[in-house]
Parts: sequence; C-alpha cells; structure tokens
Amino acid sequence: MGGTEKDSKAGGGDDSAQQKPLDTGMATNLKVGIADFPLYDGSVSPEDFLAQCSRLAGLGNISSDSLASIVAARCSGRALTVVNELEQRLGRLSMAQLSTSLTSHFSAQPTAAQAAMQLSRLVKGRMKAREFGQQVRLLIRRACPEFFTKDGTVKSTSVPAYNAALFRHLLVGLSAEEATLISRLKANTFEEAIEELPVALETSGVCGPAAAAFIRDLGRRICTCTGDRRETAWLRAIYFTHAAPAVRERLEVEQRKCARLITGCIKLTDKETLVAEAGLPPLSLRAKELAAGEYARIVRLPPGDPARNLLDKTPPPRLRYRAHEAWRRAVTSAEEAGLPPPPPADEDATLSFKPCFRRVGRWVCDRAGLSDLPVEPLALYQGAPPWHHCGDAVRFVLDLPQPTRRTDLPEKRKEAALAALALVPDPDCTIWSDGSAKEGTIQGGGGAILELHREGRTIECVAPAGRVCSSMRAELVAMTEALTCLHELPAPSKALIKRVLLCTDSRSGLQLLSGGPDDQQSAIGQRVWGLIDALTAAGKDITLHWVPGHADLAGNEAADRLANQAAADCAQEEAPIDLSSARTAIRRWTSELASARAQRHPHREPTPSHDELDRWGQATLSQLRTGYCPLVRATAHRLGLVEDPTCRACGEEEEDVEHLLAGCPAHVAARAGFWGHCPTLAEVLSGPAQHIIEFMKRVGRVQVATDPPPPAAP
Ligand SMILES: [Zn+2]
Repeated sequence: MGGTEKDSKAGGGDDSAQQKPLDTGMATNLKVGIADFPLYDGSVSPEDFLAQCSRLAGLGNISSDSLASIVAARCSGRALTVVNELEQRLGRLSMAQLSTSLTSHFSAQPTAAQAAMQLSRLVKGRMKAREFGQQVRLLIRRACPEFFTKDGTVKSTSVPAYNAALFRHLLVGLSAEEATLISRLKANTFEEAIEELPVALETSGVCGPAAAAFIRDLGRRICTCTGDRRETAWLRAIYFTHAAPAVRERLEVEQRKCARLITGCIKLTDKETLVAEAGLPPLSLRAKELAAGEYARIVRLPPGDPARNLLDKTPPPRLRYRAHEAWRRAVTSAEEAGLPPPPPADEDATLSFKPCFRRVGRWVCDRAGLSDLPVEPLALYQGAPPWHHCGDAVRFVLDLPQPTRRTDLPEKRKEAALAALALVPDPDCTIWSDGSAKEGTIQGGGGAILELHREGRTIECVAPAGRVCSSMRAELVAMTEALTCLHELPAPSKALIKRVLLCTDSRSGLQLLSGGPDDQQSAIGQRVWGLIDALTAAGKDITLHWVPGHADLAGNEAADRLANQAAADCAQEEAPIDLSSARTAIRRWTSELASARAQRHPHREPTPSHDELDRWGQATLSQLRTGYCPLVRATAHRLGLVEDPTCRACGEEEEDVEHLLAGCPAHVAARAGFWGHCPTLAEVLSGPAQHIIEFMKRVGRVQVATDPPPPAAP
C-alpha cells in the first residue's frame, strides 16, 4: 500500500505514453495504493464506483477484505457516515451490502448521484458527446456548489477537485475508446480545460502502466474465453490508438501460448491449426469484428459528433500504405471517368501493417454486405426526464392466466389464448401483428391486420424490415406499421375507437417495450413508444397482449402470412439497418471466415468423447489431430530426438501420424476391432477417442520416441 497520487498520474498528459503504452512497465509489478482509489462522494453510481475500485484492486492484487475497508475509507462526507454506522451494526461489510447501503443512501433523494446514474444509463451511443459534457458540468454544479464562485466560474482552489469530479462523470458515460477519441481531438470537445483526460484513459484501461499490467492476463483471458469488456476495449484500442503491429503480435503470441496450455500441443504445431484446435477465435478476426462493429456504430451517430468527424477525416500519413493509396487514386480516376470504383485492397492480407479501424471497419462492413444499405441513426437522448412514465392508459400482458408450453397441442394453446383475450374489455380495434426474418438474421418483413369492429372492416398493412434484420426488429417494425396506420386513420374512423388491443407472438418484443419510453435504447423502440404516446394523448387505451404463435389463431396466422409476404416482396433496399442487426451480420461474416480458415485443420470435427480422456490422453489426441506428436517418429525427428524418421515397424516409409494410425502394415493387428482393415486417417480421428489412445498403448507409444526406441508392448 505504498502508492501515491503520482502513481495514478503516470502516463498522463504525455502523448508518447499513448503511442507506446506497452513497452514500459511490462516487467514491473504494478502497485496500487489507497490514494489511487477514487474518492466516493456520490457523484457516480455506487455500482460504477465499486466496479472501478475492484478493477484497481485486481490490478494491485488486493484481497476483497482489504478492498471493502479501502472502499469505506474512500467514501467521503455523508457516504462515510452511513458506511460507518452500518459497519458498526453489521460488523464487516461485504461488497454487496456496501453497494446496497450506498444506493439506498443516495437514491433516497433525487441527488446528482441518482441523476448521474440515469445519465450514464441513457448516454451510451445516444447522446452527443457535447451534450453529455454539458449535462455533466451541470450535475457537478448542482452537487458541489462550493467549487464555484458567484458568477459561475470554477474557483482556482477548487480546480483539481472539479477536474476530478469531471473525470469521474466522464468515466461513467464514456467507453475507453470514446475517451481515447476525445483526447485525440485535443480535448476541445468537452472543455479546453480538460488536460488530464489521459488520467481518465488510464483508469479506463487503455493507456499507461495499468494497461501494461493487464495485458499480461489479457492473453490468458482471451484464450480461456473468460474475458470481460476490458479486453474488448483493449482489442478496440488496437485500432483506435493505432498500436504498433508488435502489440497485436504480442497478444497473438500470448494467445498461442494459452492454446498450447489448453490443448497440450507442441510448439511445432501450425499457428492457425493450434488456435482452431483450442476452439479459440483467431485474434485478428476478432479484432476485425470489433473494428467493424465500432465503424457501424459511428456511421450511425449524428453528423457533427466528434467520433463521426474522425471517421470522415483523411487518415494521418503514418497510417497510409502504398496499396491503399493506390486504391484511393484509382477510385478518384474512376470517378472522373464515370466508371464504377475498383474494389479496395484485401485487408486480410494487409491488416498486419497498419491497423486503422476506419479502413478495416469499412472493408469488413462491405464484405458483410452492409455497404449499400441505408443506416438507421442511433437513438439520441431525447431530453425527457428518465423518471417520466405514462399513466395507466397502456397495459402489457406478457403471460396467459393459464400457462401454455410450446410443446402443447395447438388446440390447447388456442383455447388458452382465446380465454385470456376474453378477459380484456371489448376492444374497438384489434391489431394482429407479426414479423418474419429468414433464419432470424436476413430478409425481414412485418405485417399486421387491423380489425375495426365498429365499422366491420379490416385493414392490412405490410412493411419491409431490411435486408439484414433480426426477428425482434421485424416484430417491432410490424407494430410500428400497425400503430402508424391506426394513428393516420381518417378522423371519423379514429373517433369510433377508444380501446385498442394489440396481439403479438413476440414476448421479447413486448418485454423490451414494457420497460417504458425511457428504457428504449433503439430508435425503433422509441418510435413504437412515440406512437403509443401519441395515441394515448388522443385518449386511446392500449393493451399490448402476448399470444402464443402458431396456435391456429386466425388473426395471428393472417399476420404471419402478411409478414412473410412483406419479407419477400417489399423493396428491402429502402429499409434502414439498425446497429444490432448490422453487428449480427458482421459476426456472421467473421464466423464464416473463421470456419473457412479452420478447414486447413487436418481434422476439423472434434473427436467424439475427447473430453472423457485423462489429461495425457487429451493432449496426445490433440497432438495427433494437429499432425505433430512427439510419440511419432517424424515429429521426434523434427525435434532432434531421433536421427531417422523411418518407421521401425515396417521400415518402409517415414512414420508420420497418418502412417502410424492408418497406414503402417505392421500394426494391422493392433487396429483390428477398432477401425477395420485399412482405415483412412479421417475415419480413425472420427473416434471414439478411447480407441485411438488404446491403439497408441497397444503399439507401445506411451513415451516420447528416442533412440533406441522403447520395446514394443506385448
Ligand atoms: Zn510402418
């Protein structure tokens, strides 16, 4: 616990620290002192405060007991009083109890803490950076009036405290890469005065010695797939900070090390085969996926957003390379000649030189089939207070009183649904809406039927939901279309309607909407709520009712047909693509590429019952599967353990994995009963795993081959 304030500022304010965050401090043990923990004054949510503290504790190897006392010590003012009182009553506090006590204390009144918590929830990708900055400053003014003079400027003595408060707020709302972006714009987006932003960056885990410390466990965690968001941020940072290729290579070395630990494969094993054998995604692909996801997010930000501006800027000279420059020139000349632009260079081949999320992201989005499709802008913060809710005019029914299961017979489910609908007061208008998307990812469409009971007529409406589209989005498109249609009815028809019943088979869609208007993170969710608000304002009561799908309900079946028709026939080119659908398309592209690459693996399919073997068996099997096993003479020869790779049993050819397992005529008897007379290697490796290991034992291969060879088993 010998840390000082200076530790936490290491790497701050210094541009070079961002360029080469990893070349320093790799070997030193990071010490986190109590002064490095943020002070809690209620300006961020307790969860965020505790998360920051536990992250720091993780970096400094601090036990959870000490952490609880440090957290208590870093609570100032009233928070500390509350914690002390509780501590006396309860003895030592657990983290969960601490969080609860802080929450209950600070949300008992509409304080800045509560507002900050709501802000941070609302801000992700939704509010312009500048607006967020203003909101944050406003909050600090309300929470800490003592920092300010009468005319509203910060007192010179309070500048450090004010800045600290500012950073804490910024950390709540900004992701690491966003903070990096802002700092790259020389911080003039929030306020010229913010010079210590790199401190915020360091705490959020992108630059500085903290980053150096966690890169070591990064490789481990990526490989064991237990990583959390920090790693993701780091991978993104490869693109955002334009880290040197050496950084990624280092990560890849770490990943391969872990893959060898997982599988027991040896160093000779081919890199891609090794990673595939361990069941890990190749790092370059994963990073590419993240870059593309980020690119897709940023193109959906409003024009004028700092991140968006960065996207349109020409990359700095150090990020350009010849092939790309040549392509840019070719595009310009094609434009002048009125020809279609030539395709860009293959980023897969050039990626290792100049990582740049703009170029790589655009390229991947292009490959994933997103480039020509219109984008749906991200839902921006609307300015409505988060605690706003809209009366009793809207009702959600997510379950039937008599529960049904998907496996129940359609008649039973239909009966239950009709019984539930009978409980709803007679509606003047019943809407049946349904969405459809092929394989849940492409060719979306929404359809709905409006039954106007007073007039005895029905209206059908259809809408395309986009070439790339999730099922949920298709459902919401259908609801939007239906509610728009209702909203735009001629006044005499509309006046006849008081009670509206909307039936859908999308429970997840209703669950999303039932969170209320402020909980809608997607533009489409906000649009549905906008329509609901408009209808309730016009005096309508709306019930949104879940009904089981494919239960032979006439309205639902008809809506389903309309949705399929919309997906097939409507003009998909015009339907905008939302961020989550775009990300799904990107993921699909990368996983297809990953499985295409894994074809280079000698035996792609896992051998059945591999996991039931003991550790030695598993390692041996993985080695055999990837073609390099020290128990086989060819590999032993490569390792310098034996002089001659020729098979000792038959003396005919080199003894590689295929020869030993499937080819060698001397082992026909040992193979008998397992795989028949002369199997192929693929037949042998398709299991079961125990047979292969049993065979290895039968032919006496339980030790690494050496000269002279061990005696054959009886
Ligand atoms: Zn042989």
